[in-house]
Amino acid sequence: VHLSPAQRHVAFVAFPFGTHAAPLFALARAIAAAAPGAALSFLSTARSLASLPQAQGLGNIRLVPIADGTPESSAEPPPASEQAKIGMFLAAMPGSLRAGMDDAVAGAGGAAVSCVVSDAFLWMAGEVAETAGAPWLPLYTGGPASLSAHFHTDLLRETIGVGERAIARSKEQLHFIPGLSAHRVCDLPEGIVFGPLDSPFSCLLHRMGQSVAKAAAVLVNTFEGLDRTIDGEFSASFSKYLHIGPLHLLVPLAGPTPDTHHCLPWLDRHAPATVAYVSFGSVMTPQPAELAALAEGLEASGAAFLWSLKDHARELLPPGFLDRTKERGLVVSWAPQLDVLRHAAVGAFVTHCGWNSVLEAMTAGVPMVCHPFFGDQRMNARSVSLVWKIGVEFEGGAITKEGVTRALDTVLKGEEGKRMKAMACELKAMTTRAVQPQGSSSVNLKRLMQFV
Ligand code: UDP
Repeated sequence: VHLSPAQRHVAFVAFPFGTHAAPLFALARAIAAAAPGAALSFLSTARSLASLPQAQGLGNIRLVPIADGTPESSAEPPPASEQAKIGMFLAAMPGSLRAGMDDAVAGAGGAAVSCVVSDAFLWMAGEVAETAGAPWLPLYTGGPASLSAHFHTDLLRETIGVGERAIARSKEQLHFIPGLSAHRVCDLPEGIVFGPLDSPFSCLLHRMGQSVAKAAAVLVNTFEGLDRTIDGEFSASFSKYLHIGPLHLLVPLAGPTPDTHHCLPWLDRHAPATVAYVSFGSVMTPQPAELAALAEGLEASGAAFLWSLKDHARELLPPGFLDRTKERGLVVSWAPQLDVLRHAAVGAFVTHCGWNSVLEAMTAGVPMVCHPFFGDQRMNARSVSLVWKIGVEFEGGAITKEGVTRALDTVLKGEEGKRMKAMACELKAMTTRAVQPQGSSSVNLKRLMQFV
């Protein structure tokens, strides 16, 4: 069937947790600009839609709220944890996705969905696409090493074993998977060989790993040349494997990000590459003892620091810490991270290695001190420190006062830090080239338009 441009209808389906929806929305904005005549529907929960940068103007994108799966009756208490919310969302997903698709079609004047672009996690969007006879384009928003781990879940389980057996082999390296020889069993995301293998979330990711090869094209928020071995395997395994990142460079926000806490003027007062910026993303906060150790380490290091710390965690700081460090430290509840990382004063980024944070640091040429928590973060941290050599991890994984001073000394002052900075600047140059008009990510964005 050949549809006229006015009838083309692309449905985007976001995974409404963490920072997942943001890169998919950036891609939606890029496709909206490239296909102004098409109808675009962006499906996510109301809470997730409210977190998107809507001030940018939606153009031909229609936001379509879908159910988050929490019980309607106010008699039941709302789910306590993010995990519980994810479980409820997934349990309701088959029905809420169908209802959302119906709403999308109705909102687009009856135009049938001709292409489905979803967060790769949501493999069921692939089935919806298949039923509609439309191509499915999953976008994986994490680091490529973790996609490889999910893709090879069955092989990993067969080779390493699961549960206690896998834990006993936690320091073994994954030599048998292309591109993962620097990664160890213990770096794998939970739910592959250890952790809850049968939870709804683990089953979701296992199924994703089995489904991506059936997609018309697999999209990744990274750039060509960063992980050549993984790229080689995926290019051979998938119908199409398209790097379209870093999306925050390819589809930049139109306006400035608000700097409510005046981080940028504060950074202006510091010498180049002297400040440590600390943030663990939108979800995680270190355990109280580690948070206190981090504060003590920052204080003992003598380095200037900007710390994005959630308000509820402020009370966990050691007594008098804020007062003693007020001349060289700024603690805020939220920072305009992209602008902060691009500021010349920032010389190190203490991060949980969420993929958005890693990409943002890379595109700014800032070396990292890694403290991963869960999911793809451990694999990202390993890639940062051992594969790309643009950062360090804390020895033994835990945050200690001495570990913090040592890591900051290394990155901000040592010869090794200079080498990391030079590597980070090389990667920064690669990301800049990838998003230029003839760059690989720009060209791949045009190639994916053939499905739209
Ligand atoms: N972020 C920010 N200000 C903060 C903390 C985080 O702007 O104070 C942004 C950051 O720029 C990144 C996102 O939040 O785009 C975090 O995404 P990431 O994938 O790193 O981690 P997640 O929040 O999903 O764990």
